[in-house]
Amino acid sequence: MIVLSKALQRIKPSATVGISQMARKMAGEGRDVIALSAGEPDFDTPDAIKEAGIRAIEGGRTKYTNVDGIVELKRAVAEKFRRDNDLDVQAEDCFVAAGGKQIIFNALLATLNPGDEVIVPTPYWVSYPDIVLLAGAKPVFADCDAKSGFKLTPEILAGSISKNTKWLIINSPSNPTGAAYSRDELKALGEVLLEYPWVHVLSDDIYEQLLYEGKEFFTIAQACPELAPRVLTMNGVSKSHAMTGWRIGYCVGPRPILAAMGKLQAQSTTNPSSISQWAALEALNGNNDFLAEWREVFLRRRNFVVRELNAIEGLDCLMPDGAFYVFPSCSDHFGKTSKGGRPIDNDEDFVMALLAENGVALVHGAAFGMGGHFRLSYAASDNDLKKALSRIREFCQGLR
Ligand code: GLU
Repeated sequence: MIVLSKALQRIKPSATVGISQMARKMAGEGRDVIALSAGEPDFDTPDAIKEAGIRAIEGGRTKYTNVDGIVELKRAVAEKFRRDNDLDVQAEDCFVAAGGKQIIFNALLATLNPGDEVIVPTPYWVSYPDIVLLAGAKPVFADCDAKSGFKLTPEILAGSISKNTKWLIINSPSNPTGAAYSRDELKALGEVLLEYPWVHVLSDDIYEQLLYEGKEFFTIAQACPELAPRVLTMNGVSKSHAMTGWRIGYCVGPRPILAAMGKLQAQSTTNPSSISQWAALEALNGNNDFLAEWREVFLRRRNFVVRELNAIEGLDCLMPDGAFYVFPSCSDHFGKTSKGGRPIDNDEDFVMALLAENGVALVHGAAFGMGGHFRLSYAASDNDLKKALSRIREFCQGLR
């Protein structure tokens, strides 16, 4: 028997990746499954970006690159942060990795020691606490329920900080709730943090481009410039340019942290794919007119999904500001039994019975640290959403 590492034993499998793989497997076996479990735009990568990738292959740009990214891409990343986020940065302040997840992984692994704490507002994206645990540190959960719009307040933040706090993680718009912070809300959080100079902030801005109805995006280093020297601002092309499979994430952050991340990356993946980096350069520098159209499509789907969910008895869904997720509560159904005879005592029972009996894949709220809810990704075709919503309705109506 192979004995696994103690570090690995501290973490659980990623629920978002796991349930999506389960849905793919069921579909591969011929089952009729609608997967609304993955956080992935259903649009194709725009042609100009694909062509940049093809040119990179044909031009022989297929070798190792700088560990932290090709200079051209780092310059484009710096320009992006200056242009979109008013951050005063140079290429030397930027770092490129194989997806936003590797940026977070590198930053946390490179800086955390046993005893360190990381404040993770709940509900959270599934991987934050596990990466903290893998690094041997402690996630400190700050509960942000539906009453606060799933957002951290200055009071909750202040109550969560200790002398051991190393990082606060902020994710706006949020996965899984879609909640987004205004400039004033971020400024208020920043003002609390100014009192605690040992706390750093990891701002996960991966859903920046997906905000609806004119809501403006702000990141904490922009809302509170005094804080900027201790903020690591992460972003990537996965969600903004439908490039999840290309695996390119990037960040701006304090140079000593970036150097430590480089040391770690040089001992693990070396550089992110050279081809993907050239494609990401086109994504950042090229024409992004398609985004307005994508936003319109997501907005229409969001409105449809929220309306339909709220029309189903026992479900309650807040209207999200952005991203492509909704996070409704389903706890009114607990204590019932499904048509197929499965007891529904928690959100995991709910999503597993729905998948088995009606063929819709969702992710249970407990995976995001908030039971009683589920996450539905509306990055799917109108037709699939229509079918999925009528299956969810049928499933709920069948509960006794
Ligand atoms: N971030 C996406 C999600 O939450 C992709 C899967 C993952 O890496 O968690 O579904």
